[in-house]
Amino acid sequence: MLVVMKNDATEEQVQAVIKEIENMGYRGVPMPGAQRTAICIIGNQGPVESSTLLAIDGVQETIPVTKPYKLVSRETHTESTVISIGEVRIGAKEPVVMAGPCAVESEEQALTIADIVKKCGAKVFRGGAFKPRTSPYSFQGLGEEGLRILGKVREKTGLLIVTEATDHANLDVVEKYADIIQIGARNMQNYSLLRLAGQVSKPILLKRSFAATIDELLMAAEYIISEGNSQVILCERGIRTFSDNTRNTLDLSAIPSIKEVSHLPIIVDPSHAAGRREYVTSLSKGAIAVGADGLLVEVHHDPSRALSDGMQSLYPQQFEELMEEIEHLRH
Ligand code: PEP
Ligand code: MN
Repeated sequence: MLVVMKNDATEEQVQAVIKEIENMGYRGVPMPGAQRTAICIIGNQGPVESSTLLAIDGVQETIPVTKPYKLVSRETHTESTVISIGEVRIGAKEPVVMAGPCAVESEEQALTIADIVKKCGAKVFRGGAFKPRTSPYSFQGLGEEGLRILGKVREKTGLLIVTEATDHANLDVVEKYADIIQIGARNMQNYSLLRLAGQVSKPILLKRSFAATIDELLMAAEYIISEGNSQVILCERGIRTFSDNTRNTLDLSAIPSIKEVSHLPIIVDPSHAAGRREYVTSLSKGAIAVGADGLLVEVHHDPSRALSDGMQSLYPQQFEELMEEIEHLRH
């Protein structure tokens, strides 16, 4: 349930509502808006009796929330969320492009690719230091050394850094180096990791699992936000279907569907969806056309030698063309 306060409600009145919600055995989370403050009740299993809340001064009305997720829902937060990190605004009008290699392989590799993607207009550098690989024998990433390299990329280029935390053990150190912490598809339903991600001070990029419905993705985001971290960016990266022409099937319908029910920004990863660089530009254009707030694209200066995901990594020239093509689409 959402308790909507009057326009002129005071902070004391908001606190009185939260206190009453706690007396009822639930939690009240204030959702400040441009016009008025509302308080979202969480922790209730069924309908909440509203009469005592309606009797408190400053309360305008109570509205039932129909969805199982609450804090991520547009029912409780009608305005779209914009996540600001320095000059970069994710969820505002301009799509934000995050680009770089699948994995950080060396300082030279990371800095070379960072220069290229920056020149083309990317605002965020991606690169895994801890890699969740399907095979235990594949390159697992450089670990903390990779994070140190990412720190250098930020220092030299001014690009923001997005990189993945794969478990509890590396979340703290990733938080130290990253501007945005990625939770990968394989961990989307790692609920204890999601709870910890809800306690960090950095925005979280939450990727949709290849077997998750949109409601499951939104419930995963709810885990993070319910712990106090409201800065969540969703990412559609392709789901598993019977189609085997691409690595995964990019669910472009997820973007308008999510925008209808949630206020969170959503970006698209065309690289892991396609699995082949030939399709990445088309899928990127589709993503921007349907309203994605940004892209997460794999780029490598020498894809044939990449230690992971070389087949889906764009050549620098292709990335430059991709950026030009989406620039046309925005106008
Ligand atoms: C990645 O972005 O490097 C990655 C591993 O993606 P996903 O979790 O979507 O497979
Ligand atoms: Mn990859």
